[in-house]
Amino acid sequence: MKDPIRISFEFFPPKTADGRAKLYRTREILQAFDPEFFSVTYGAGGTTRETTAGIVTDMCRDGISIAPHLSFGGDNEETILGLLNLYREAGVTRIVALRGDMPSGMGAVAQLVYANELVAFIRRHSGDHFHLEVAAYPEIHPESNSYGDDIRYLKAKFEAGADSALTQYFYNPDSYFYFIDQCEKAGIDAPIYPGIMPINNFDSLMRFSRNCGAEIPRWLKKRMESYRNLEDIRKLGLEVVTDLCETLLEGGAPGLHFYTMNQVDPTASILQALSPET
Ligand code: FAD
Repeated sequence: MKDPIRISFEFFPPKTADGRAKLYRTREILQAFDPEFFSVTYGAGGTTRETTAGIVTDMCRDGISIAPHLSFGGDNEETILGLLNLYREAGVTRIVALRGDMPSGMGAVAQLVYANELVAFIRRHSGDHFHLEVAAYPEIHPESNSYGDDIRYLKAKFEAGADSALTQYFYNPDSYFYFIDQCEKAGIDAPIYPGIMPINNFDSLMRFSRNCGAEIPRWLKKRMESYRNLEDIRKLGLEVVTDLCETLLEGGAPGLHFYTMNQVDPTASILQALSPET
């Protein structure tokens, strides 16, 4: 029998009480898929400090395995230490450690702190208490000078003490397999979990992808453009992303990390459609 695959679900902190109530319902429903953990994003610069921490501590109280995302942004060490202590006391055992991007309109921070430095900081102050996830980019981080640089800096995050990585989303499985090969050649042997973005809305997917550098293959963009109807786009998205997940798992990916966008259906229908053999 195959080992069970590791599933995780990412949320963002909603701005309203209604959004938060909807998120808690989403969490309850997705729990049926037995995820290893949920995670909650963090607005670098502290824009979501209270909401991210509030959701994380609430869910911890309910016994849920939940990982806050964390980055320095423009914050000082004391602020980050305060969050680490809060999370530890709440029962958090996993953190997604990032450099982060400053939200537009917040102005430039003198120098964003690279993720490898945050990982080293957490290890210095919290020892091995937290399992540390970091970000990886099969299609190259938009600011990187070269593919080789990206892999070197990913390796630096593992050398600083990270345990595993979650990737940016992509729709070309070969980009993941090639990336894994290159990481292995560079001596990285930690698990790297592919990030999966369900397709639910063409315009927001295009906008998101422009910002984070994820490539939408031409054939997929053309097919989505040819549909006027939301239902048809969702049907195509389900087919394409389910195939992607199957290919990744058959090719040896150790699990899947879903960018849920706080919604049940797009993620749940992919997991339901995945064949039991995968
Ligand atoms: P780093 O690993 O620090 O890399 C940033 C850039 O600098 C890369 O180009 C890298 O090649 C280069 N680099 C890295 N280290 C060094 C070094 N030591 N010297 C010189 N150059 C270096 N953003 C948010 O704001 N909030 C979130 O909650 C969030 N969650 C995410 C979750 C996942 C799974 C992923 C994949 C991304 C997430 N992001 C989030 C986006 C992420 O913060 C951005 O992609 C950001 O630009 C880079 O963050 P990083 O941790 O990968 O940075």
